Amino acid sequence: MSNKKILLTGGLGYIGSHTAVSLLNSGYDVAIIDDLSNSHIEVKDAIQKITGKKIDVIIGDCGKAEDINRAFEECGPIYAVVHFAGFKAVGESVHKPLKYYKNNLESAIETINACFKYGCKNFIFSSSATVYGNAQRMPIVESDLLSYTQPYGETKLVIENMLCGICKAEKDFNVIMLRYFNPVGAHESGLIGEDPNGIPNNLMPYITKVAVGKLEKLTIFGSDYPTPDGTCVRDFIHITDLAEGHVKAVDKIGHLENNIEAVNLGRGKGVSVKELVDTFNEISNGACKAVYGPRREGDVPVSYADVKKANEVLGWKARLGVKDMCISAYKWELSHMEKK
Ligand code: NAD
Ligand code: UDP
Repeated sequence: MSNKKILLTGGLGYIGSHTAVSLLNSGYDVAIIDDLSNSHIEVKDAIQKITGKKIDVIIGDCGKAEDINRAFEECGPIYAVVHFAGFKAVGESVHKPLKYYKNNLESAIETINACFKYGCKNFIFSSSATVYGNAQRMPIVESDLLSYTQPYGETKLVIENMLCGICKAEKDFNVIMLRYFNPVGAHESGLIGEDPNGIPNNLMPYITKVAVGKLEKLTIFGSDYPTPDGTCVRDFIHITDLAEGHVKAVDKIGHLENNIEAVNLGRGKGVSVKELVDTFNEISNGACKAVYGPRREGDVPVSYADVKKANEVLGWKARLGVKDMCISAYKWELSHMEKK
């Protein structure tokens, strides 16, 4: 009997590539469609090298019917889709909202359309903690109020709302919306990791680039927040744990009580920016020079997840700690640097 095949849109990207590895290691087959707008084809070889398994990769835009249909025709039958494809830079979305509305919404709509056309009943969506907007209560529970503060977050919320409407009408279509908190780190092999273009916006890739001398110093945005050490608090989660969360979602999706669920994927622990930087400096012999600067516009002081539902619905819990996140991220930056 052949294994169930999972189609990952945007599967050559940061979260998709780690999820591909976890799915393959759990006995699923994997196909990927990616337009390489924020990734490289070499990631295919890295996934195959880590797992010793072959994957199908279609280079195409899943926002175009002909490309996503080709993926289903050449790689099917598909048991479930995990929809990662989309643009994710919050700041850019404020300046180029149409780019975000177009790619994120079209890619979701055409991929869902193709699911119906080819009889795929199971859809897992990469959502984000950004759908909670400026949450007032911690930890954040899935049933808390949803809102958005920028176009990127708006696209995530629109897609979540669309999926709710579709699931109301189509009772045999199953959806899990995974709301990620702050994924960081890399696979232990050092072969795949986060590879942002240009100067990173996110904290961990900035830290590692300072550590290897590609950037001069990290600026910690704000030291006067109402938090124990004055810096922002986030729910950082190791990418390997996050990837495992997707495997659990794929395991579960054909057996949901309701045909749509939203689930937080975080560790459920708040860690401050200063704590993360201090831990990184512990494991790297002080490699990340950091200074304090003004607050960054739009940052919420504190954000961390309530993770009970992930445990109850998916039977999943994060295992790895902040030290593992820092060690793996540093290893990836170092090995990556040698290649470039
Ligand atoms: P990423 O940019 O590394 O991966 C996205 C991948 O999708 C890239 O390989 C890109 O080339 C591809 N892509 C983009 N548009 C496409 C299209 N129309 N057709 C085919 N491929 C396309 O990003 P990531 O960090 O892996 O994020 C994956 C998903 O998770 C995104 O939807 C993102 O919004 C969401 N998310 C990410 C984070 C995070 O911190 N990384 C947090 C919350 C949610
Ligand atoms: N941050 C920082 N310096 C940087 C990048 C980020 O101090 O160069 C802080 C940022 O202000 C936030 C936290 O790190 O409090 C996490 O930011 P990131 O952009 O990684 O994720 P976000 O929580 O904004 O999605």
